[in-house]
Amino acid sequence: MESTTSRVLSPSQLELLAEHGEEQTAVPGDVLFAVGDETYPFIAILEGEARIEDASGREIIRQGAPGFLGELNLLTGQRVFLTAVVSKPMRYIAVPREELRSLLFDHQDLADVVLSAFIARREALQTREGVGLEVIGPRSSERTRAIAEWLREARIPYRWRDPERDGDSEAEQLVDGLPPELLPIVRIPGAEEIQGPTSGELSRALGIGLELADREEVDLLIVGGGPAGLGAAVYGASEGLDTLVLERSVLGGQAGFSRRIENYLGFPGGITGADLISRAVTQALKFGARTATPYVAVSLEADGERHVVRVDEGNEVSARAIVLANGAQYRRLPVEGLADYEGISVFYAAGPPEARRCGGSQVAVVGGGNSAGQAAIWLARGGALVTLLHRRADLSETMSDYLIHDLERAGVQVRDRSEIAELHGTDGELEAVTLADGERLPFKDLFLFLGAEPHTDWLGDSVERDEDGFLLTGNAAGSDNLLETSIPGVYAIGDARCGSTKRVAAAVGEGAMVIPFVHERIGPRIHRVAEEPAVAEPLTR
Ligand SMILES: Cc1cc2nc3c(=O)[nH]c(=O)nc-3n(C[C@H](O)[C@H](O)[C@H](O)COP(=O)(O)OP(=O)(O)OC[C@H]3O[C@@H](n4cnc5c(N)ncnc54)[C@H](O)[C@@H]3O)c2cc1C
Repeated sequence: MESTTSRVLSPSQLELLAEHGEEQTAVPGDVLFAVGDETYPFIAILEGEARIEDASGREIIRQGAPGFLGELNLLTGQRVFLTAVVSKPMRYIAVPREELRSLLFDHQDLADVVLSAFIARREALQTREGVGLEVIGPRSSERTRAIAEWLREARIPYRWRDPERDGDSEAEQLVDGLPPELLPIVRIPGAEEIQGPTSGELSRALGIGLELADREEVDLLIVGGGPAGLGAAVYGASEGLDTLVLERSVLGGQAGFSRRIENYLGFPGGITGADLISRAVTQALKFGARTATPYVAVSLEADGERHVVRVDEGNEVSARAIVLANGAQYRRLPVEGLADYEGISVFYAAGPPEARRCGGSQVAVVGGGNSAGQAAIWLARGGALVTLLHRRADLSETMSDYLIHDLERAGVQVRDRSEIAELHGTDGELEAVTLADGERLPFKDLFLFLGAEPHTDWLGDSVERDEDGFLLTGNAAGSDNLLETSIPGVYAIGDARCGSTKRVAAAVGEGAMVIPFVHERIGPRIHRVAEEPAVAEPLTR
């Protein structure tokens, strides 16, 4: 594991932790926590050393003083995926997880060390075999592919056991005779296995994600948990609005997939999307906003004083004001059979699991924008042989100069005027592509970065949109309020809004801007901050 996973605590941080925890000792062989444990404390090591093992007992890393043990599940409430065994006599401070949460809110320096190590540890775990959940089901099962896709987006470590491909006779027996709706079987470390879960059911089985009541009544409903929605949640909740965020997938939106955001104010060295989003969610929850994932908003009914949004699981949310922060979705390639490959060898993001998967093999990144460039460089640095395919005559028409230079340095081959016409492979595993000019190229994986279109289809005719589906606001929608849509009390912000600047800072800024309009509509609220910060699902990427 990288050294970023082994951060150390300063003497003053250890003192602080000692005030809130209990000093304990342990001898070699003692188990500090084991796979499946949901309640283990944060462990700050004063002396000695512990060995971290995966479920099969393989050693992953050793941690000594003045380091600490723990992973994101300490904050999310998920079961732990690893075991910690004392390897040298230990003296340590055990801090209950609730105490840790409060300390992280109150002490920024401690939060910086602990959160960055937790995030780095989670990223490192995703690149290891044999850690996390087991998903047992064939690639031909749509439900299995959907669960694998959701776990990948949620950055939850998992191992996919495909009975049709891996020669895994146990997996074969387990799924034998199961109807499609009971696939996949998901094994959660330390818990009972579940059959055929939806992503919502799995999310809640993992201990993440708020369960919505059949009917919720709130001041402010925000649809979409990307930077715009989270920005609105922070400003709305901190100004006393009873605020609920609905997110159909994983909090963070597109920004959560960015390897490094270089242009966000206040982070001169850049910040990973995961880190920025973790902080944003923690902040929103601190102010008392609630976040519900994964719930898909499927309809909006405008009704004068209150508006109602229905979600895919049948629940309805009635709100005095609604902020649409739906963002955008990735454009797909117009080639036959694409869906068969999606999630198996065609991806819309390039993160640690994908880099692990394609290290050493020949892959293509498709697209001419900066996000395509960033992904190509990241994959090349992970050891893949990367070709960047784009349509135009010259990449500089669409990509920043510094990225074009970085592509060269990383050994990425760039092919101008290249469009994919056909995919070749079996059972979702890509073997080659044919370009429009007839040339056949042997790519094992494709990464598509073709831009995005607004995720607003679910609104139908209820709200006015432009011809590309972007939401009209202000004058264009017949409203005096800059961010109000054609329905009074329904606002649109971020990438989904017609005319918006497609950047994180702009999305967050619109999240802040929209709240005064909401106040104007529903009147001021009494300032209310959650007594006990509820860090329920912030750090899942
Ligand atoms: C790989 C990548 C790298 C990037 N790098 C940078 C960068 O370096 N700097 C920069 O400034 N910008 C960058 N961007 C752009 C930036 O991420 C976006 O402009 C920003 O995320 C837009 O925020 P948003 O909240 O409006 O939308 P999104 O981030 O798209 O979030 C919208 C959210 O709404 C949810 N949603 C949609 N429909 C529903 C529904 N019906 N029900 C419930 N939830 C729903 C989605 O799941 C999503 O989480 C990058 C984008 C990508 C893809």
